[in-house]
Amino acid sequence: MKYTKILTVLFLLLFAIKNADAVSHEHSESSYQHAWCSAHSGIEEYENKDYTRVDCLTKYHAVEFDFANKWAESIGQALHYEEMTGKKAMVVLILENPAKQMVYFNRVKRLAEKYCFDAEYITPNVLHINQNCKCPYSDCKCNKI
Ligand SMILES: [Zn+2]
Repeated sequence: MKYTKILTVLFLLLFAIKNADAVSHEHSESSYQHAWCSAHSGIEEYENKDYTRVDCLTKYHAVEFDFANKWAESIGQALHYEEMTGKKAMVVLILENPAKQMVYFNRVKRLAEKYCFDAEYITPNVLHINQNCKCPYSDCKCNKI
């Protein structure tokens, strides 16, 4: 009986660790930001008057990048950047597993249509990951392990 309890606790701990792993990301958010922003000729980390920073400022957009689980926060930040820069708010949601995470993008997309901001999603494809599973950005966590 005692062993069963210990085993249960161990199992739950393993499960918790595995779940914590699920929210850790193979590549840093900044790598997605570098890839998208350079492809769109934007300015990264553009500083506003209130010292908040726009992830990427392009000719037309003030862009916020976030992983799928932060879909709701990304909208608030993007709208704030629109307010600060006068450029249209845009959310670029990072879907590491598009099949599972499209539901989050669909939420953003629906609100984008209703409240007039722009939204798109990107996947690890934008990173040009090499045969060793590393992306080209030296500041990425995949290059620090
Ligand atoms: Zn990387």
